Amino acid sequence: MIRPMTRTALIAIALAACDAVPGNPRAPRPAHLDDAAEVARDLWSDEFGVDLPAPPPPIEWLAGDCLDVDAPGYACVRGWYAGGAIYLAARPAIADTLLAHEMLHWVLDQYGDSDGTHEAPAWRTALPDVEAAILAWELLQSETPR
Ligand SMILES: [Zn+2]
Repeated sequence: MIRPMTRTALIAIALAACDAVPGNPRAPRPAHLDDAAEVARDLWSDEFGVDLPAPPPPIEWLAGDCLDVDAPGYACVRGWYAGGAIYLAARPAIADTLLAHEMLHWVLDQYGDSDGTHEAPAWRTALPDVEAAILAWELLQSETPR
């Protein structure tokens, strides 16, 4: 039997692991990152047929090819969702990051489970469409005169 105090300590350790943030330094943020986050939130709102909370979750844009996180079974983690925030390994294009993927963790978190094991149908049914739409939106941004 686990004594109550021990159980509390174990729960605290587990939560700390889930909310651990990557150790990478920040990278210079793309000017259109916040707009991309709004677009991703709107796309997921359409996919789920709901108005997801605004603003979208905060996004940290981090240096390095892989994020410095403890994720057994993953050789290179390029995106991370923890504590209501999204962490992305910086790439030249936002569409090449895991923005849509990590935003889906946030969306599912609104329903009580961020689905760290990727079992919800939306990973297979909707994610490719959202990723394609973000790519199309970003290409349009680069072609639009400012
Ligand atoms: Zn994931």
